[in-house]
Parts: sequence; structure tokens; C-alpha cells
Amino acid sequence: MDKRDYYEVLGVERGAGDAAIKSAYRRCAMQHHPDRNPGDQQSEERFKEAAEAYGVLSDAEKRALYDQFGHAGPRRSGFEGFSGMEDIFSHFADVFGGGGGRGGQRRGGDLQTRLQLTFQEAVKGCQKEITFDRHVPCSRCSGSGARPGSQPVACPTCGGRGQVMQSMGFVRIASTCPACRGQGRVVKDKCDGCGGGGVERKRETVTIDIPAGVDEGNTMRVPGRGQASAGGPAGHLYVEFSVTADPRFEREGDDLIATVPISYAQAVLGATVAIPTIDGDESLDVEPGTQPGTVRTLRGRGVPHVEARGRGDLHVRLQVVVPKRLDDEQRKLIEQLAALDGASDLPEADSGGFFRRRKKKK
Ligand SMILES: [Zn+2]
Ligand SMILES: [Zn+2]
Repeated sequence: MDKRDYYEVLGVERGAGDAAIKSAYRRCAMQHHPDRNPGDQQSEERFKEAAEAYGVLSDAEKRALYDQFGHAGPRRSGFEGFSGMEDIFSHFADVFGGGGGRGGQRRGGDLQTRLQLTFQEAVKGCQKEITFDRHVPCSRCSGSGARPGSQPVACPTCGGRGQVMQSMGFVRIASTCPACRGQGRVVKDKCDGCGGGGVERKRETVTIDIPAGVDEGNTMRVPGRGQASAGGPAGHLYVEFSVTADPRFEREGDDLIATVPISYAQAVLGATVAIPTIDGDESLDVEPGTQPGTVRTLRGRGVPHVEARGRGDLHVRLQVVVPKRLDDEQRKLIEQLAALDGASDLPEADSGGFFRRRKKKK
């Protein structure tokens, strides 16, 4: 079995200092973290390989042995590598941060809520207060679960380590202690407020900043605002947005389409018309001879991109409105026009369908 050089595994120089080795290991471990690469055998191997390399190079004595004798060196001093993932997480808890860096292990549950936004709030961004019920650490026992005045005691099953070791032939396998569920402590004298669970239900209000440009169905994560957990970090709150439509706009991604009616005369002669934008009404010059369904695009006047700079476009579709009713004078004028055009065999009023046909943008 060829083992790769430990310095090569972590991608550091042979003379690298402790801090450089630690940060190289953290980078490596995060890249191949099993939570990020579920079911990926190769990542798991890389993750274990990096842990082994770090286990040696972060220890002055083992590192010296390795530098002198190669892989056989640390083994001679009794280093056997790690038995498995849990072993790695518990060994390098300082690298992975609280809770061993594994989501879901001791973290509280996630919460989900929906939030209704107006169209304007969604495209411009806003601050919103949301009120919801969540589990928070029990106020009587501060989350310990123990009756005030008493303390949780070290778990007798695992001796406070949170893990139990099982031997299977040569291999020792660490698993989470079933008695304390990995916390290392158990409550003997339970708190009356929470029955030993360490959490209580509470109505909470948080203010969240919603970025400009969110859309129907988008979800925002509010870290640490999910359920509290006894002995671990709280879960997250996920807020899913519902957006009330604005009748003036259709939204396609970050582009907006506004359909603006203009009269036949405006289309023929040209005019300045009011158009809606998300920044308020503005005026648009319509050129003489504008055809029904003409689309004018205002670059960068659509919805702001949530995760990038810039905005989508605003497409203004000019809809020529053909009047359904004419008074006598109008009718006379149109008939004169028709006579000039040589189209004397006009049908009775109302042939709107033709002009209202919409041109699709390609
Ligand atoms: Zn235990
Ligand atoms: Zn309590």
C-alpha cells in the first residue's frame, strides 16, 4: 500500500510552521468533509488521509520521527491513525469548531416559516420582523436540564468522553455514547421547568434584512434562530418568501415586462407616455409609426440581482389600443382617413383582435 507523503497530502512545505499546517489541514478537511461529499468514497479516503497527516505533523515528536524514518517512524511510537470518522472529529474538535463540525449531530432542529412580501418589498429589499415559536435554552436551568442547585454529572457509561469504544478484532471503533447521546454528561436531578430536556418553548421576534431582488419561493437562512439544543448550537431558521404580484409587471427572472397601452393616434404620431418602473413612473418617448407589440428594452432597470451586482432589464411592450366605441365625430374622421387610405369597405366598428395580437420577444 503506497502512502502519500504527509506534507504532500496537506500541500505544505517540509519546513512549514504549526499555524500553516493547521490551516492547510482545515482547508483540506473542509474540502473533503463527509457532510459536503455524502457517499463519496474518494473524498472519505482523502479526509482520512488528511487527518492522519495532520495527526503526525501537528505533534512535534511524531513529526520528528516521520521526518527521520518516514511512515514507519510515527508507527514505532504507537501511532495507529484513526479508527473512523467520529474518532477524527472528536480528536480535532478545535479544528472543526463546536459540535465537531458536523451538522445535525448535536445542533438543534431547523425551523421553517413563510413570509409574505409585497412586490415592491421583494424587488427593493426591506427589513421585516417575524414572530415564531422556537425552543430556547430553559430559563430555569440555563439549558443544563439539571434542577437549579444541582449539576449534570459525568456520564457513567462513557466516563464523560461522549463516545464508547468497541473492539472488533484489531480495529477499535468509536461510536457516540447511547446513554448521554455524545454529550458526556447526564442529568440526575431533573429541572422542573423543562423536565431535563434543557429547552423551553418561547415566542420570539427577529428582524431580518431581506436583500433586494428576492422572488417567490426563494429561501433565506437565518443562522442560529432554529431550535436550541441542550449542549449544542441552535439550528437555523429558514424563511421562504411569497411575493404578491404587481399587476403592472410580469417578472421573468430578474427581467420585468410592463405592458403599456397607447392610443392609435399616439402610435401613428408619436408621443411621450408614462411607464411604470420599480423606481416610480417615468416617461418614455414613443416614436411616430410605432407598431403594435413593439418592445422597448430599458437595460438595467429591472430587478436587482440578489447575489451579484447589477439589475435585470425592463421590457416595455407597447400595446396599441383600438377603440371599441367611437362617437360620431371620431367615426367621421376615421372614415375620412379610411377613404384616404383607399380602404372604403370597412366593416362595422370593433375589429380589435388584429391589433391586439402580441408580438413575442425572441
Ligand atoms: Zn455517555
Ligand atoms: Zn430546565
